[in-house]
Amino acid sequence: MELFHTLQGEGFHTGKSAVFIRLAGCDVGCIWCDVKESWDANEHPEVSENYIVDQVLSYNTKFAVITGGEPTLYNLTSLVNKLKQNNVYTAIETAGTNHFSDNLDWICFSPKKFKNPKESIYKLADELKVVIYHPSDLEWALEHQKKISNKECQLYIQPEWSKMDTRMPLIINFLKENPKWRLSVQTHKFLNIP
Ligand code: SF4
Repeated sequence: MELFHTLQGEGFHTGKSAVFIRLAGCDVGCIWCDVKESWDANEHPEVSENYIVDQVLSYNTKFAVITGGEPTLYNLTSLVNKLKQNNVYTAIETAGTNHFSDNLDWICFSPKKFKNPKESIYKLADELKVVIYHPSDLEWALEHQKKISNKECQLYIQPEWSKMDTRMPLIINFLKENPKWRLSVQTHKFLNIP
């Protein structure tokens, strides 16, 4: 759908210069989705892996984030290998709804209530980032934490942008009671950058 150089706005890698590779197509359908224009892959042109790699290498960063849409709709093994052959550290943002290659450097798993993830994601995730739209999402976050088997997995609670003001008091209490979790906010939206 698009490829652009910006800062990673949220989660563990917040603030890092990164090229975002946004793949079109989504099998989840969150009601609060802020990139609904990504949902229909047919509305966007097909491009080759080599084109994507060349575009990434044209920017002054060695950090790529593959996002969507839901990027696990695609077999990414070859693309990720090509990026890594060029020393590009490659991360993914996914709801974990499909099986995917394990050659990625960083897997940010952001589960969504609108479609269950594959069980395999729980042992692969480097980062669990739960978006809080409804207050019950905080308990839901803890349910996911119990299933994560990677002891090093980073845990993030992130208020959904439109609900941030009303949910923050609950989130702050949650973080005080659950110190393994950290706060993620969408800094790119505060800064009005992509
Ligand atoms: S998974 Fe991501 S792209 Fe798909 S609907 Fe949810 S927020 Fe939007």
